[in-house]
Amino acid sequence: MSDTLEGLLQEGRTFPPPAEFRKTALDTDASVYDEAERDWQGFWATQALELDWTKEWDTILEWELPFAKWFVGGKLNVSYNCLDRHVDAGHGDQIAFHWEGEPGDSRALSYRDLLEETCRVANTLRSFGVEKGDRVAIYMGMVPETVAAILACARIGAPHSVVFGGFSAQSLKDRINDAQAKVLITGDGAWRRGAVVALKDIADEALADTPSIERVLVLQRTKNDVAMQAGRDVWWHDTVPGQAPECACCEMDSEDLLFLLYTSGTTGKPKGIMHTTGGYLTQCAYTHKHVFDLHPDTDVYWCTADVGWVTGHSYIVYGPLANRTTSVLYEGTPDFPDKDRFWSIVEKYKVTTFYTAPTAIRTFMKWGDEYPARHDLSSIRLMGTVGEPINPEAWVWYYKTIGGERCPVVDTWWQTETGAIMISALPGATKLKPGSATFPLPGIGAGIVDDAGKPVGLPGGGYLVLERPWPSMLRGIWGDPQRYRDTYWSRFDGKYFAGDGAKRDEEGYFWLLGRVDDIMLVSGHNISTTEVESALVDHPAVAEAAVVGKVDDTTGQAIAAFVILRSGVEPRDELVDELRNHVAELIGPIAKPKSILFTEELPKTRSGKIMRRLLRDVAQDQALGDTTTLADPAVVDGIKSRYFAAAPTED
Ligand code: ATP
Ligand code: MG
Repeated sequence: MSDTLEGLLQEGRTFPPPAEFRKTALDTDASVYDEAERDWQGFWATQALELDWTKEWDTILEWELPFAKWFVGGKLNVSYNCLDRHVDAGHGDQIAFHWEGEPGDSRALSYRDLLEETCRVANTLRSFGVEKGDRVAIYMGMVPETVAAILACARIGAPHSVVFGGFSAQSLKDRINDAQAKVLITGDGAWRRGAVVALKDIADEALADTPSIERVLVLQRTKNDVAMQAGRDVWWHDTVPGQAPECACCEMDSEDLLFLLYTSGTTGKPKGIMHTTGGYLTQCAYTHKHVFDLHPDTDVYWCTADVGWVTGHSYIVYGPLANRTTSVLYEGTPDFPDKDRFWSIVEKYKVTTFYTAPTAIRTFMKWGDEYPARHDLSSIRLMGTVGEPINPEAWVWYYKTIGGERCPVVDTWWQTETGAIMISALPGATKLKPGSATFPLPGIGAGIVDDAGKPVGLPGGGYLVLERPWPSMLRGIWGDPQRYRDTYWSRFDGKYFAGDGAKRDEEGYFWLLGRVDDIMLVSGHNISTTEVESALVDHPAVAEAAVVGKVDDTTGQAIAAFVILRSGVEPRDELVDELRNHVAELIGPIAKPKSILFTEELPKTRSGKIMRRLLRDVAQDQALGDTTTLADPAVVDGIKSRYFAAAPTED
């Protein structure tokens, strides 16, 4: 796989840390990497000491490949670390969340408010008979009560399984049954683009076939009519407010299960990923503080992810709260009531630190610069991205249009399985290159190997692997240890196989190339989807692109491209040739798409990732694979009909 991955798209632009930023940055040079490298276990132990432990660990790491235990013998409670210790230290009045409802209502919750609400929910769960180790499913929208529900579970040692509020009844049912959850916490509905998502109705459909659920706690938010089953369902407002606002924390072992979270299902059936307590919180807190250069007294931090994804778990809830962050929490979509909603929120709360996904950035690019231009974004000092490779042109657009050419952009590579960020710049220390996630964080061992598992030198490309255990690593797949071994630990001996392709340049910078399953083989050359897509997005007419390899008699695979144009650009035939030539110029004739289809939408998962496997099915005119994790099934049908209507271009 390494032959052509090297020397494809060249990105030469560099952005050193701005002088202003460096003045106050937590990390300003590379010495932290050397220090961590000298003793990586000791490095993580030092980070773990930033948390409050009721009993310190006996052993930093026990590693019986592929099973790791971190901070063995240590005891702590995550909810205590996220709430009580800040209140006890005199920060009870500090805002934990500025919450912005989609219809325009808002609330500010202090650390004391959040602690008290968490205790009331924890007491409610205890009154339902929830005990340490019982699983609690959470199916809610983006409201502060969701955070309290999560922390309440952590407080009493009941592992939570948060299911994204956009998932169907079937997905919810499967996840509840897989986890054998005892209680479900949900709401009547959630606001989304001005309409109500009827959470309770959907939950009721799932609950018809979830025998493990004994009680359902229902938050009233949207005030739509819902059915309440006597003896099982209780309203939040009838139960929670009457509970005591204090609740003793359950002392948890470092390796006790904190939560289950199912992966987003971009490549196949979701897996119930297991995360435990001490190591997870250690790496969440460390990465959140250092990657986002967090200054808790002055920063206003906003991660736009949904709390139902791992990004929401680690970088809305656990990392930020462990670090006593003031955050923004927003309920709705970026285009309600208009396409400037995010920027009006940035202006309103004077957001300093903004973390979003490439899919959102490319959407903002498509909508045009007029929306951010309506608002004062000068409070922003640092920006981040996560979820997919970011195309260099989208990075530069973000840097200029949102960041005003002042703010470093940290591109953070990680997965549900890794629990926390693994590859990212340290913004005060790292010279940035648009499209590169830069380097593994201090303490992390990442590398690139070829088909045979042999390390690939610089420059070079191949499979991304993790070479040593890390504190927030998954501890397994719920109920399926064999799948855990097979998926992650069997491809390369002794190494964690991430499933992503990557290359390193002469300076050792990591460039993520997309899923290994998506890599195309054209006339015997491996070509990365990310690089061809980035070449397309590099053209001023293009906002977003997805490419796939389709079976071809002469070349083995031929590249089929699906392209979304920027707002105001009309699709026309000449543009097809222009784009193909543009790719040929940037990468080489071999990477020229054979066909280009202009489209308004691309099939994406509910977390916004492009599902190339479905586009491949479309391009090859075959039955669509599993579509249950698709955000909008109509999109792929729409593309399908247009794909066959448009005559593919030939050489
Ligand atoms: P499934 O594993 O069920 O197919 P998924 O991999 O989409 O779903 P996540 O754990 O949410 O579920 O996504 C992790 C993946 O997202 C990574 O393996 C990688 O492919 C991609 N990714 C995340 N951040 C980045 C980034 N900064 N650069 C490149 N790719 C990224
Ligand atoms: Mg994955």
